[in-house]
Amino acid sequence: MPPDLLLRQVFGYDAFRPGQAEIVEAVAAGRDVLAIMPTGGGKSLCFQLPALMREGLTVVISPLIALMRDQVRGLEALGVAAGALTSGNTDAETAAVHQAVADGRLRLLYMAPERLAAGGTVHFLRRAGVTAIAVDEAHCVSQWGHDFRPDYLRIGELKRALNVPLAAFTATADAETRTEIVARLFGGADPVTFLRGFDRPNIRLAFQPKDQPRRQLMEFAAARRGQSGIVYCASRARTETLAAALSQAGQPAIPYHGGMEAGPRREAETRFQRDDGLIVVATVAFGMGIDKPDIRWVAHADLPKSIEAYYQEIGRAGRDGAPAETLTLYGADDIRLRRAQIDEGLAPPGRKAADHARLNALLGLAEAQGCRRRRLLDYFGEDSGPCGNCDLCSDPPKLFDGTEAVRKALSAVLRTDEWFGTGHLIDILLGQATEKVRARGHDHLPTFGVGSDLSRAQWGAVFRQMLGLDLLRPDPSRHGALRMTEGARPILRGENTVTLRRDLIGKARPAYAVRA
Ligand code: ADP
Ligand code: ZN
Repeated sequence: MPPDLLLRQVFGYDAFRPGQAEIVEAVAAGRDVLAIMPTGGGKSLCFQLPALMREGLTVVISPLIALMRDQVRGLEALGVAAGALTSGNTDAETAAVHQAVADGRLRLLYMAPERLAAGGTVHFLRRAGVTAIAVDEAHCVSQWGHDFRPDYLRIGELKRALNVPLAAFTATADAETRTEIVARLFGGADPVTFLRGFDRPNIRLAFQPKDQPRRQLMEFAAARRGQSGIVYCASRARTETLAAALSQAGQPAIPYHGGMEAGPRREAETRFQRDDGLIVVATVAFGMGIDKPDIRWVAHADLPKSIEAYYQEIGRAGRDGAPAETLTLYGADDIRLRRAQIDEGLAPPGRKAADHARLNALLGLAEAQGCRRRRLLDYFGEDSGPCGNCDLCSDPPKLFDGTEAVRKALSAVLRTDEWFGTGHLIDILLGQATEKVRARGHDHLPTFGVGSDLSRAQWGAVFRQMLGLDLLRPDPSRHGALRMTEGARPILRGENTVTLRRDLIGKARPAYAVRA
């Protein structure tokens, strides 16, 4: 199965994180690999996924028993046959793993480095049909590092004895440690090394809340007439209507989505690769196989699924290193749609919660108060300063003290026992006695009508920013009803204030404007 299918079908992720796709490709191809990725960057996937693409068994050397157990449990939950041999095993567990290995059933075998010291381990692994070695926390082989594990020195011998490719992973990037890893694990032969920061500085980042989405998009495209670009849409139908609208405006544009026949799809891909200045209006189905270096812009007509998907999709622009621009439009409907897609999906509850968190991270980016690139890179574990190449660096948003509005909103949430979504909560704040409000007696709450100084759209913006700041979180077990987070408590108690972006609130009424 190709890597992007495995990623979706086995691991349940919609996109690779930065760096993962390249590393997966090299490991799956059987190259020796050294990958330096920040903590939390998603290293495990880079050896787990290739293990499923390759014949035979992948042995994973990892220094922490707890970590190994977590990973094995995680893989088993995904239906991947994995086992661990550690000093923490019961005899029965060890026997079961040996049996599974003997039967050729395992795809990944985790092992503590100390095991390599035991006589017979190399022999056992050779018989087990090991075809690849992965080494987690590879810096443990460095004698000068603080995590030195003497048994890591045996890994080099193991590689030579089995004569199989080795992929080493670490978050420690200094040159000295790297040289030591190469010498000790690879016997000095140069592995393919991945030490790329995640930043793509030539890509300009920008977001806009949807106001008149069609017009916003057409203007962005019109200002880039003659340049190749991609417009990503959340639905197949929208790709057709937007492509038609662009064509009508005199910009060559074609739709592309998974529902099209293979023929027209291939034709669209070829035309896009070949022609200059063509716009493809597509669903996420477009892009995996596209290798066009001079895509000058990428626009999202709708909010992507997750921060990972966002990064991957904008990353298709400007591969040649020349300036490229992006614009992501988002609105309340998008957020609702994405939430519903997660809630109605078949994923287990834990995965759904993680998907909501990834969507929240994207919303946080959309409504960031400072440099977007800094925030994006921070999410992937990379430090950076303000970039000077995003809309918020160019035009810093005006901030204001939103504490009072936030407290009103929180009070509406709490007085309705955290059982309602934005629409109903805003009705209460605005003092709108809808049928639902009256049926539940919410028109008698002290909060009823306390928010009439803001419009519905403005309250929507307040709620969105509260989600982005992680003051509120939708609870999937309550159909996405908003619940208060721990982080919101000090605000309610008056111990903390909240800063909000003024531009997203729009034109407030005077009483509110004075506070800004
Ligand atoms: P580390 O690099 O620190 O070993 P992990 O491999 O544990 O990081 O991954 C960190 C987190 O990122 C995990 O929660 C994992 O589920 C998540 N993750 C990894 N790859 C992806 C992806 N492509 N999309 C979304 N989440 C991912
Ligand atoms: Zn910036």
